[in-house]
Amino acid sequence: MTKIYNNKLSYLKVLFLCSILFTVMFTGCVEEEQKPGEKELSAPEIQLDQPSILPNWKDGEYHDYYETTDILSDFKVKYPDLVNVFSIGKSVLGKDIWCIRITNENNNQAKFSCLVDGCIHGCEWEAGEACLYLADYLLINFRKNATVTNILNISEIFIVPLLNPDGRQKDERWNDNGIDLNRNFDVHFGRILGRSFPLGKLFGKIKISGFRIPKIGIFTNAGRRPFSEPETQAIGDLMKSLYNRDFSFYVNCHTALRKLAGPSTVTFRSQFEMTKKERNVIDYATKWAEENTEYGVYDNIGGFGSGNAPDWCFKEFRVPSFTYEILSIDYEPWFGGGRHDHLVHWMKTTLPVFMYLLVNINNLHQWKTPDIQPPLPEGVPPPPLH
Ligand SMILES: [Zn+2]
Repeated sequence: MTKIYNNKLSYLKVLFLCSILFTVMFTGCVEEEQKPGEKELSAPEIQLDQPSILPNWKDGEYHDYYETTDILSDFKVKYPDLVNVFSIGKSVLGKDIWCIRITNENNNQAKFSCLVDGCIHGCEWEAGEACLYLADYLLINFRKNATVTNILNISEIFIVPLLNPDGRQKDERWNDNGIDLNRNFDVHFGRILGRSFPLGKLFGKIKISGFRIPKIGIFTNAGRRPFSEPETQAIGDLMKSLYNRDFSFYVNCHTALRKLAGPSTVTFRSQFEMTKKERNVIDYATKWAEENTEYGVYDNIGGFGSGNAPDWCFKEFRVPSFTYEILSIDYEPWFGGGRHDHLVHWMKTTLPVFMYLLVNINNLHQWKTPDIQPPLPEGVPPPPLH
């Protein structure tokens, strides 16, 4: 009886060991079959990160349209495996609107895509500079920093530094037709409550870009109809092309309200609603910026919600879309001619938000809580100036 029992026990032991061995082998097979195309930024990899380095920029060295064109060409020459530069269309005065696409070209796996643009308002120089600074930061740290390397392996980052090149050259908010491009998108278009008016050029000839009504505010020309302007058509077409490339988030950069904002909430005849899940993700991301950077949450007071790019992007493609108001303290946000200073400082303040969104690209794509913390270089974000 005991012998039989012992035999049974041995048999069970062998069976148990075999099952463990089989499980280990089977799990190993499954792991081997996992494709490198699995799109994940896992937390352990980020914890093993090495310090990254910052671009070697100097205060006062701003990049106008021609210098931006040169720096993008230089990136292409220096990083042929990471950079593609192409024109998405032409401005009113015929300038190419350049886009730089940054990704590890040698990695052919399916990737997320995202879009960052700047200078939709031409006088908001820091918005364009932040785009170039981000591009520079990603390029100099690829294969040196684990986080950046992961990002470029799983993402295609489309950056349009100067969406309004004519306005940038003239240091003006509007494009060369006198249109506020960030009121020209097909969402809540031309609303007086949004402090915009749907006019275009008067009699097809006279520019009326905007006017100030004392104690009420500034009203700005939205164009005769949505997408009347070549610049908005160009960026709209780019977004449509990203929709088929796992489009995961959009950041529309401005100067200088010191805010990160999600899509505007419009109470009167809203053309889109946000689900609770979407609202939670946007709130989480903007709150993260408030708690970890100098940037706060936009309170949506002041007629923000008329014809703007992030609202349209969210309405059309349902991707997390943000207005990012980059700081520059003495800057005049409306009519240009403002002071620009402390360039390197402001650029350092922008990196945490960009890196936060990039390390969370998988979460953002799926509208999951973006709770991965980005490792940042030393001195980022810098202590506030004042
Ligand atoms: Zn702006």
